[in-house]
Amino acid sequence: MPEQHSLLRRQLKRHTAHTGELPEEWRAFIDAVNDAYRQSDVDREMLERSMNLSSAELMRANADLRDVVRALKQSELEYRGLFEAARDAILILDPADGRVLEANQRACEIYGFTRDEFLDLSITHFTEDVGAALARIEATLQSGVHPGFESVHRNKAGTRMHVEVSDSVVTYKGQPAILSINHDVTDRHKARTELQESLSLLRATLESTADGILVVDREGRFVTFNRRFVEMWGFSREIVEAGDDGQAIEMALEQLHRPDTFLEKVRELYAQPDAESQDILEFKDGRVFERYSMPQRIGGESVGRVWSFRDVTQQRRAEEVIQHHAYHDDLTGLPNRPLFRDRLSQALAQAQRFKQTLAMLFFDLDRFKIINDTLGHDVGDRLLQDVAKRLIERRRAGDTLARLGGDEFMLLVSNIRHVGDAKTIAEDFLDALRPAFQVGGHELHIAASCGISIYPHDGEDAETLVKNADIALYQAKARGRNAYQVYEPEMNAKALGKLVLENQLRRALAREEFVVYYQPVISGRDGSVVATEALVRWRRDGQLVLPAEFISVAEASGLIGPLGDWVLAQACVQRQHWLGIADTPMRMSVNVSASQFQQQGFFDEVRRALEVTGLDPSTLELELTESVILQHPDEGIASLRALASLGVQIAIDDFGTGYSSLSYLKRLPISALKIDQSFIRDCISHRNDAAIVTAVIAMAQSMNLRVVAEGVETPEQAAFLRERGCDELQGFLFSPPIAEPELTAMLEQRVRSAT
Ligand code: C2E
Ligand code: MG
Ligand code: MG
Repeated sequence: MPEQHSLLRRQLKRHTAHTGELPEEWRAFIDAVNDAYRQSDVDREMLERSMNLSSAELMRANADLRDVVRALKQSELEYRGLFEAARDAILILDPADGRVLEANQRACEIYGFTRDEFLDLSITHFTEDVGAALARIEATLQSGVHPGFESVHRNKAGTRMHVEVSDSVVTYKGQPAILSINHDVTDRHKARTELQESLSLLRATLESTADGILVVDREGRFVTFNRRFVEMWGFSREIVEAGDDGQAIEMALEQLHRPDTFLEKVRELYAQPDAESQDILEFKDGRVFERYSMPQRIGGESVGRVWSFRDVTQQRRAEEVIQHHAYHDDLTGLPNRPLFRDRLSQALAQAQRFKQTLAMLFFDLDRFKIINDTLGHDVGDRLLQDVAKRLIERRRAGDTLARLGGDEFMLLVSNIRHVGDAKTIAEDFLDALRPAFQVGGHELHIAASCGISIYPHDGEDAETLVKNADIALYQAKARGRNAYQVYEPEMNAKALGKLVLENQLRRALAREEFVVYYQPVISGRDGSVVATEALVRWRRDGQLVLPAEFISVAEASGLIGPLGDWVLAQACVQRQHWLGIADTPMRMSVNVSASQFQQQGFFDEVRRALEVTGLDPSTLELELTESVILQHPDEGIASLRALASLGVQIAIDDFGTGYSSLSYLKRLPISALKIDQSFIRDCISHRNDAAIVTAVIAMAQSMNLRVVAEGVETPEQAAFLRERGCDELQGFLFSPPIAEPELTAMLEQRVRSAT
């Protein structure tokens, strides 16, 4: 039996005390009441427990709430701290009119307003574009946030600032407001503007340069280029737009003269990103580019390469022209002396290495000078050009033909087998000149002489070879021109022989081995003897030696002084002797050589000879060659004037072989010209000699000079000269130089036949 509920037990005690025991029939009822009591106890207990429980939780929740409030307070502080410490200017704006509700410390710094001043302002006070600023607030309100945009603000002092603004909507004091974060980008803006400026400057520079410029990255792709680059290479748009080096290189190669070299260079540079290089590109169409390539570096590292191309075609041409002028003769286009020297030293180096034989052929035109003087420089120049043309035609490829100046040509023949080859070439060249030249209406004949020297036989260096070719040339000329001569060591030995000869001459002078021969000079008009020329001879061991063999040695050794004086005195004496025979005023001509003429005492010697013999000065004629006067023109003229003042006549001997011009001769006190015998020799057979002789006679006449023709050997020549009015004739046709007794006899004979 379950225990009765205490409350029920107390109720039951009170009741039973009154009635005694409960009747049986109440038992079930009482148990139900007891159960109800018990159940209610359980419920109450549960209720109480649950009530206790919830109140504890409440307590705990309260505590949590306090924490939250504390945290909120804390975070607000933190937020405020953040707000104040922010590196950007933060403003809280009233969305209605943009009024500033809050401004952080940074905003005050940047804008220069105090916090209180800020609170009186709206963004319209410091935004340049007010309309746009307000419109953005509106847009922010609608979308909740306005991402960064750039705006121009002014600070308190009115200075413009560039700011990047980002706006968003926040709740401020329960109301929607605009949180505006303003990042000062003035510096960045300035840097960007500067960058843009320098970029545009760079671009403008790139475009305005005359060079074609291409910048590629490390892989060779086009980074940038200028228009000039595209034009210069003629690249199509596709290639340029594709920016692919492969196609561009391919197209470049097609245009180049030596594509392989270029390709090699490109590969080399790709392999060496840090290398700089420069070279010349030659195009098939004749253009020439200078190419530069340098690495583009950022912070010391190569990131690509700049190629620049300069069109130097014009410059190249100009240089070539200048180069050509510097190393070529303008008149004939042939290499000149410096270029010849160059080629010679190259050829010598090669000949030395490969043990080859070289030949130098030195050509000199015979008597070219007189053509120049009589027919004019134009004719002379054109003749030289034509001569050069003929020589060029005969020149083998690889040989150098140069004009060394004047009428001198030098041929350098590389790799001959033996001297015979050089002789054949010389003959061939001389032959080439044989046919007459037609120049300016004149038919001109010109011959040349040629001296040959052979490497290594006649010299191992340029100087010796040229010198020996010159000596050989001189020999060729002496042998009668229009011939070649191979250098022979004896030619130098001859120089040694001169010493011996000099001694012999000295002795001959002392022993009186010299004798004067006389050659009559005949009048062109009536054939009478108008003069005699005194010509010295040397009677050596019974042999008569001609002046050609000793005069130059006598000159070089100074012996010409006493020898000349002796001839002059002899001639003057002889002239006086003949006075008795011929009643015509017969002149006596005496040759004067250069060193004799230049000697201090020469004038006195002439005066003394005149005084001693009492000779009429006008019957004495001194013969000088042009070169004698020209060696020292000023002193020459003075000496001539002095001589002329004595009353003696002066004649220019061997006229046409020297270098004086007729206009120069006009200034000299001369009375006669003696045309060199080489012109007379060919005046019938060669038209240019005929033309020269004709011109000289005409010009001499116009200058009032007497003209004497030397070396007249045939009646045809005499007739030719007489026709042209030549004053006097001298030559074997009339008489060779003869000894005094024979000439005396001849004069007497003439006198006899005249009477
Ligand atoms: P030059 O004064 O021109 O003398 C003329 C030369 O021509 C002479 O040679 C003469 O023999 C030569 N001759 C004359 N007629 C003819 C001719 O029809 N045909 C050819 N082929 N030759 C002819 P030579 O006597 O041998 O004299 C040569 C040169 O030596 C002279 O040339 C003169 O420059 C020089 N000379 C001669 N005697 C003297 C002298 O006493 N003193 C000086 N300083 N020089 C002299
Ligand atoms: Mg003479
Ligand atoms: Mg002469």
